[in-house]
Amino acid sequence: MIPYQTEPLTDFSLEENRKLYKEALAKAQQELGQDYPLIIGGERITTNDKIVSYNPANKTEIIGSVSKANQELAEQAMQAADSTFNTWKNVDPAVRADIIFKLAAIVKRRKFEFNAWLTLESGKPWVEADADTAEAIDFFEYYARQMLELAAGKPVVSRPGEFNRFGYIPLGVGVIISPWNFPFAIMAGTAIAAAVTGNTVLLKPASTTPVIAYKFMEALEEAGLPAGVVNYIPGSGAEVGDYLVDHARTRFVSFTGSRDVGLRINERAAKVNPGQIWIKRVIAEMGGKDTIVVDAEADHELAAQAIVKSAFGFSGQKCSACSRVIVVDSAYDKVLNRVVELTKELTIGDPTNPDNFMATVIDAAAFKKVTSYFDIAKEEGRIAVGGTADDSKGYFVNPTVVADVAPKSRVMQEEIFGPIVAFCKASDFDEAIAIANNTEYGLTGAVITTNPLHIEQARRDFFVGNLYFNRGCTGAIVGYQPFGGYNMSGTCSKAGGPDYLTLHMQSKTTSETF
Ligand code: GLU
Repeated sequence: MIPYQTEPLTDFSLEENRKLYKEALAKAQQELGQDYPLIIGGERITTNDKIVSYNPANKTEIIGSVSKANQELAEQAMQAADSTFNTWKNVDPAVRADIIFKLAAIVKRRKFEFNAWLTLESGKPWVEADADTAEAIDFFEYYARQMLELAAGKPVVSRPGEFNRFGYIPLGVGVIISPWNFPFAIMAGTAIAAAVTGNTVLLKPASTTPVIAYKFMEALEEAGLPAGVVNYIPGSGAEVGDYLVDHARTRFVSFTGSRDVGLRINERAAKVNPGQIWIKRVIAEMGGKDTIVVDAEADHELAAQAIVKSAFGFSGQKCSACSRVIVVDSAYDKVLNRVVELTKELTIGDPTNPDNFMATVIDAAAFKKVTSYFDIAKEEGRIAVGGTADDSKGYFVNPTVVADVAPKSRVMQEEIFGPIVAFCKASDFDEAIAIANNTEYGLTGAVITTNPLHIEQARRDFFVGNLYFNRGCTGAIVGYQPFGGYNMSGTCSKAGGPDYLTLHMQSKTTSETF
């Protein structure tokens, strides 16, 4: 078997690749506005009630209309998943892995098609869309290999006359509630982690990006995944999400999204309902308020580049996005001024145009929330660049740098999930780390320094699940930088890491005497 390696990103300086992307966009544009059914036990079901997915960069353009599940259909999906579990759990893990390797090959072949749908449905500029698809492929390749390793179990010792074994079995039906910000990678990665380990899945994709999830379902069918293993049931969180989280037959919930929804799921899942014979597991990846600390002794150009990329890539809509910068005193003005300069150079506009670095936020609600921080920012500090937005055609928010804020200010504490980054000054490195830790989240962070003792200090004291040195704080790679955080950032279930699959399984010990 070829060892796992991350999928290379597409080189868009090559004319050939630019042509392929444009062709895929043109093809997807011709297919806009179609109707997509639910898929339950392999059966396609069309409902009258729809979720309509719009292009965030062209807000009246319909990407597709997706049938919407209700409680009755959610129950039907649960029954399909529950009965399919009886057969799927016994399928040889190597066969399950093979299907996922095929899935990876199919998505590699259809990469530009997936990229195009990501650009249109989630407003991802080319480079971000391409990274999303590459990460989905990485999850498939990595988890399928991991399953092969886990299938052998782990060694335990046996005494004479005894034969002990330790291995893993699946859990049951998993409810996957996935986000719109990595509408392919996280949606597919969480679903595949659950399925390759022998569980069956109820997939409820984010309501703003259900079409890309439908395309994934088609790829799963093409790869030969048996009907009923992954069931596609877009629907409302309050109606379908709650119903399934509460369901006595739900064995685990894998959620990626906001802190508030994650806590709600955790609380509901903790309650044992009539007929339920297990404690549900919750895997949750929630928010972040991620910090880049810049030391006095540092490459300040590198710091500024890292901040701009981490704060404004995909309009700051990554859980890992840099939303706070803490600069040690003497470097403050220099780093701030350079970030402002670089921010002014960013190109913002239609994501189908590869010259644009940034496009929109996801929808009207996000636009309202993110832009509401402009006034807060003016009260708490000074807007050094940005502070403007335009939703006449799509939900465009300009990259915004807020200078001179206090550590406890709202822009330093609250997850905004948009292209707004706050700057705060620290008197020394100790204080910078203390301010960095002064948040209820603990997902990613970065330290830009040339001082090796400060690297070690941060390695020990900076309380985040993913800590980076002399680079930005976004862009974790599957199998290289397992991703997940502490405190209100979630259950620290490291997606793309060596422990992730076992969260979807339970271990079994057998001991035979002879
Ligand atoms: N894994 C992504 C990164 O490292 C972020 C995932 C997320 O936003 O949930 O940038």
